[in-house]
Amino acid sequence: MLIVQKYGGTSVGDLDRIAHVARKVAKTKEAGNDVVVVVSAMSGETNKLIEWAKHFSKTPSKRDMDLLLSSGERVTSALLSIALNEMGYPTVAMTGRQAGIVTDSSHTTARIEKIDPAPMRRALDEGKIVVVAGFQGITADGEVTTLGRGGSDLTAVAIAGALGADKCEIYSDVDGVYTTDPRIEPKAKKLEKISYDEMLELASLGAKVLQNRSVELAKKLGVVIEAKSTFKDVPGTIITKEEEIMEKPLVSGIALDRNQARVSLRGVKDRPGIAAEIFKALAQENINVDMIVQTIGQDGKTNLDFTVPENELELVRQVMDRFKEEYESIDYDPHVAKVSIVGVGMKSHSGVASKAFETMAQENINIEMISTSEIKISMVIDEKYSELAVRALHSAYELDR
Ligand code: ADP
Ligand code: ASP
Ligand code: MG
Repeated sequence: MLIVQKYGGTSVGDLDRIAHVARKVAKTKEAGNDVVVVVSAMSGETNKLIEWAKHFSKTPSKRDMDLLLSSGERVTSALLSIALNEMGYPTVAMTGRQAGIVTDSSHTTARIEKIDPAPMRRALDEGKIVVVAGFQGITADGEVTTLGRGGSDLTAVAIAGALGADKCEIYSDVDGVYTTDPRIEPKAKKLEKISYDEMLELASLGAKVLQNRSVELAKKLGVVIEAKSTFKDVPGTIITKEEEIMEKPLVSGIALDRNQARVSLRGVKDRPGIAAEIFKALAQENINVDMIVQTIGQDGKTNLDFTVPENELELVRQVMDRFKEEYESIDYDPHVAKVSIVGVGMKSHSGVASKAFETMAQENINIEMISTSEIKISMVIDEKYSELAVRALHSAYELDR
């Protein structure tokens, strides 16, 4: 079998852990498999590099950030390769470029356009273990890019797709996908299987156990993922097609996203095209606007509220300053969070949303904004009630049973 394994930051967090990963990879190889390993940077390393950049500038160039951040994964890929070699296993360590990963040019959130599998194939044919630095690629012009936070998951899925791997295993410090983050709710239950669509919603809405774009790509390429633990030898969670899952619960999980900020514009001149201009300007800076609420104010003016990722707030301020003439006042609130309920069962059941609102009311938590889709309900609330909200919802939908 050809197996792609991805080890996250905690799994390669120090030298002993890298040695542990090397032994796991060796065992997989010894069992007669071809192995491609994708690694993240050591845990905390990417955040540290971001802090270092911030020491010099609030808004460093994204091209520079890519050069900086891609270095973390180079370190771990080289170290794992060295460790495996020493154990007697021939390897080839590769950067994103060397692994043939070509992306578009959206620095810091690049999309993989294609993978030339030839270099990896050649190494595998020679019986070598391929160790790839995750989270990075190169544009057609040779510019280094990164794939967004958590992007090593995407590297693994894309490689599994390009090589037609039999398995794509994503290893982290948790032994699968749970009904909610087990760090917030210890009563959370591990799911045996989850559909791509539900996993995509959970991941997009804050459950960082898998990067959302990796799930999107897995669905597109039909790559079945198993989320597993590096430290505990137990079966993980399978992420696959909805048809492969017999039992479809009403609600599969609760997600929490603390990286949210709310922007409130008061007294916006109500003229055709103003929303288009503001949101176009934000989109041009690659800022992901999420929920948008427009309400009628007074004197032909409107109020406009929307949410953006909290870590983009500085850039949002700069963009909004350009529209100063268009509104009376603006307020930025970084202390909000988004809590979401996800489940394919919602498609065919009513009353799921009202239960969420009732639960918030019982806990005296004010809902600031709401959005729904076929399989999710999201609410923006005061960040300080995040964990309370997650636990209350988890119990209201009986996910702890
Ligand atoms: P890695 O660094 O290996 O990529 P991450 O830290 O990105 O790992 O993801 C694993 C973490 O995801 C877990 O430690 C857990 O706290 C968190 N998490 C959030 N939501 C969930 C969930 N629904 N199920 C499992 N883990 C979750
Ligand atoms: N090191 C990167 C991050 O921390 C990518 C990854 O770990 O997947 O976001
Ligand atoms: Mg991750």
